[in-house]
Amino acid sequence: MPIYEYYCKACGKQQSLLFMKIADVETSPKCQHCKRRRLARMLSRFAYHQGEDARLSTFDTSTPRDESFYRDSRNVGLWAKKRAKEMGVDLGSQFDETVDKARSGKILDDI
Ligand SMILES: [Zn+2]
Repeated sequence: MPIYEYYCKACGKQQSLLFMKIADVETSPKCQHCKRRRLARMLSRFAYHQGEDARLSTFDTSTPRDESFYRDSRNVGLWAKKRAKEMGVDLGSQFDETVDKARSGKILDDI
């Protein structure tokens, strides 16, 4: 299942959306917060040299990210992971796998 990070241009909230099939990605999804279809997908193909643990610890989910943040493919899924950590939710290894695939850009090959 593809997972993408979105930024809502209407309310400024970020969200990670999971899609059941790739065709759904092309339809414009609704913001989970304000229900408007103003989501911008954050594509990421940028490399920084920082480990994920460092990222997670410095990552502040309450601060809106700008677009450059999501150009780093390693930031894909980070928001969801951090939020899950904060809420004490275990997303499981399947989520990690999905994120890893999304980051490597290989997710389309599986569909
Ligand atoms: Zn919104």
